[in-house]
Parts: sequence; C-alpha cells; structure tokens
Amino acid sequence: MSIKERKLTCIVCPKGCDLKVEFDADGKIAEVSGFTCPRGKDYAIAECTSPVRTVTSTVRCADGAVVAVKTSKPIPKSMIFDVMMEINSVLADNNVKIGDVVIANVLGTGADIIITSNK
Ligand code: SF4
Repeated sequence: MSIKERKLTCIVCPKGCDLKVEFDADGKIAEVSGFTCPRGKDYAIAECTSPVRTVTSTVRCADGAVVAVKTSKPIPKSMIFDVMMEINSVLADNNVKIGDVVIANVLGTGADIIITSNK
C-alpha cells in the first residue's frame, strides 16, 4: 500500500506550521500545503525526498573538559548515527576554541564538525 499523504511540522522557524504533502499514484509529490512561506514548502519537499539534519553534540578534550560541537551544514538524516560515532571517537585538543574544526568533511558528507563553545 502506497502512502497518499504525509503530515509534517515545519522546523525551519519557531512558528511550526502544519504541512501536508500529497503524493500521486507513482509516489511523486503532487501537492504541498499548509506552509506560510516558501521555506516551508522547500522543507516539506526535502523532508520527503532527501531529509537532512544539523547534528549537535559534544566532544571531550584531552584534559577531560567537554565542549559543544555541531555540523557546519546539515547532513543526510540516514548518516546521523555514523556521524555521532565519529564525534564520540574524537579527542579534541586542549586549546580548542569556537569555530575550530575537530573533524573535517566527516564521513565524506562535506560537513565539518566545528566547536561551538569555549571550555
Ligand atoms: S512554513 Fe515558513 S513560517 Fe511556517 S514554520 Fe516553516 S519557515 Fe516558519
């Protein structure tokens, strides 16, 4: 049985519009509704075709301190688990600061893992 429609909440801004994506008999997107601005429509289409997410986490420094990190751009949702494993395996330098790259091009995604907090 094929999916005829999918309901989503837009996560692009805090307004959280309720989106509905309808599919034709071939499973292709036929219509998107419920968005207040074009970014919501783009989000709905991307979420139904190639969903991506920005990943946030923490890494441990050599001295035991913990700093926040995130991906420099969204990565495929299907790769989140593997990217988290990479993040968990790294030990950052003691002198890291906001903006430093701790993993470049993580798993070939084109995204870097960057520091987002100071120690
Ligand atoms: S559709 Fe536009 S206004 Fe609505 S939540 Fe998404 S980005 Fe915000």
